Amino acid sequence: MLQRTPPARGAFRRLRCLLVPCLLSACDACDPQLPPAVASSRYIEFHTWVYPDGLVDGAVVCMDDKLAEMDRFVEFVADALELPPPTTPIHYVHTPQALVSEDTWVCPANAGGCFDPDGRGDQKVVYSTHLDLMHELVHAVETPALGRSHPVFEEGMANYLSTDWSSADILPEFPTTLKAGIGPGRHPGGAVSMHFVGALLARGTMSQYVDLRRRVGHDDGLAELAAAYEHVFGGSFAQFLDDASATPVIGLGADPLCAGPPTIPWESPGPLDVTLPWACGDGRTFGIGKAFQTAFSLDVQREGSARMTVTSAGDGSEPEALLDACARGGEGGFNAFLAGGGRPAPGVLIPGRHVLSVLMSSDPAATGELSLVIE
Ligand SMILES: [Zn+2]
Repeated sequence: MLQRTPPARGAFRRLRCLLVPCLLSACDACDPQLPPAVASSRYIEFHTWVYPDGLVDGAVVCMDDKLAEMDRFVEFVADALELPPPTTPIHYVHTPQALVSEDTWVCPANAGGCFDPDGRGDQKVVYSTHLDLMHELVHAVETPALGRSHPVFEEGMANYLSTDWSSADILPEFPTTLKAGIGPGRHPGGAVSMHFVGALLARGTMSQYVDLRRRVGHDDGLAELAAAYEHVFGGSFAQFLDDASATPVIGLGADPLCAGPPTIPWESPGPLDVTLPWACGDGRTFGIGKAFQTAFSLDVQREGSARMTVTSAGDGSEPEALLDACARGGEGGFNAFLAGGGRPAPGVLIPGRHVLSVLMSSDPAATGELSLVIE
C-alpha cells in the first residue's frame, strides 16, 4: 500500500508520523501557554492559535460535527483497548503551519502533531498543525491509561486504530524489517509497526498484549522485546515473526464515510459531473478561520484510468482535493487522485467506495459549492 501512496499528501489526514516519532519524550522546556478553548465536546477541549485570545467578533469556528466524530473515535479507541473512556478532557491544540513558532509548537519540526505524555499537570495535550489528527487521539487515550512503552507499541497502535492501511506489501520482509528497525526508543515505522501490533492482537488477548506492552520499556531493544514476548506468549519470537508474515493486517481506522450510503450518487458508466454544496453543520464540513475541509463519498463501478477536477464556485482560490479508495478485502485504502489548482489530475479508479476530501478557503458564511468532474 505504501508504495502506491503518492508522497505529496499535503495536509490530509493520513500523513501521520511516518518518518518521525510523534509521541514526545520527556519534555523539559516545552510548556507554552495554551490559547483559550474555542470549542468543546464530551471528551475534547479544542484550542487554536488562529484565535490566540479566544473568540473575537467575526471569528469563524465550525467544529461541532468534527468534535462529535472525535468523541465517537475516542470511545472506539477506549473500547478497542478495553479501557473506560477518559474522564478528563483531551486538550487539542491546533497550530496552522503558518503560525508554528517557538511559542506555539512543541513537536519535532517536521511532525504533523504529537501528544505530550507528561501533560500539563494532569492535563492531556495533543498538538497538531491539522484540525483533526486522529492518530494523536489514540495516544491521548492509551498513554495516560497504560503508561509509556516502546514506540513500536505506541506508534503501531496509533496507526492500527487511526488508519485503514494494509500491510500486504511489507509481509515478505516483515521479520527482517522489524528486527532491523527495533532499537532503544526506535521503531520500524509506518505499516511495519502497525503490522506488529495487529499480528499480536490476532494471536492473543488484549490483556496479553497489554502485559507485553508493559514489560518493554521505551528504551529497550530487540533482545528485551523478544524475551518479553516469550514470557507472555510462551512461544519463540522468531516463530511469531515468521507466522505473522502470512496474513496482512488492515488498520481499523476507516473513514466513517467508507460506510453507509454514498453522498454522491454515480450512475456509472459515464463521466461524473456534479455540483457539491457544502455548509457548516452538514455533518461533513469543518474549519476555523479561512481554512475549511469537507468530504463526500462515492461508489466506483468500473476500474480504469481517469482524470479528476475539483473547482470552487467561490472567489477563484481553488481547493486541494484528495480522492481515497477505502479498504476492501485484504487491501487497505490508498490515494487515487490528488488534485489542486483547479487543474485536472490523472489517477486510477478501482471498483468500490471512495472518499473525496477537500481543503478550501472559506468566507465567514462558511458555506459554498464545489464542482467535481471525473472523466
Ligand atoms: Zn504517534
